[in-house]
Amino acid sequence: MFAFEPPPPVSVAIAGEGARFPVRRIFCVGRNYADHVREMGGDAKSEPPIFFTKPADALVESGAAIAYAQNTSNLHFEVELVIAIGKSGCEIAEAKALSHVFGYGVGVDLTRRDRQNEMKKAGAPWDIGKAFDQSAPIGAIARGPHPLAGRIWLSVNGEIKQDGDLAQMIWSVPEIIAALSRSWELRAGDLIYSGTPAGVGPIVPGDAVACGIDGLPDLRFSIL
Ligand code: MN
Repeated sequence: MFAFEPPPPVSVAIAGEGARFPVRRIFCVGRNYADHVREMGGDAKSEPPIFFTKPADALVESGAAIAYAQNTSNLHFEVELVIAIGKSGCEIAEAKALSHVFGYGVGVDLTRRDRQNEMKKAGAPWDIGKAFDQSAPIGAIARGPHPLAGRIWLSVNGEIKQDGDLAQMIWSVPEIIAALSRSWELRAGDLIYSGTPAGVGPIVPGDAVACGIDGLPDLRFSIL
């Protein structure tokens, strides 16, 4: 018995299957491609990975038209490999990490860059820059081989803006899973946005975004 109608469960399409992937929570990795760390003014070698989260109901599936986010005038795209966890675990060893993966998808970590930069300067949490409504577009999740390398790209209105390779990731998928599970119990249904290559930039109302990773279903969305 609830005092009012509870929110619907959050889920994501699985490529080629009728069943959907039920989502528990969203973790994100900051600063995971050296060229993006440099473009943000950092030093890739001296800085450990940063973890932050988004609410599960920030997910938006491919094909959606997304409202331009409130409280920003610098909404940025960041295309990322998304790891979908299918088996729970705590303090997972790197050697066993891939056995906890259900599949992979293409995601965009939408960011209010102006608000994030203010929070960075203040040494304050990033939530207002990262964890807002509709901030986590995602394509269908595909089971299949673990993508250790492959092109990761994003275009705005047909013009390529980000064009990198998964092989450029500073922290690999097993290293991310091992590191995250030292601080949180990962559970089936968790998603991990694993960081973005260089080329991030702004989007404005009317823009059409397309992005992809070799071997995974593309993600497309537009900004209202
Ligand atoms: Mn990101």
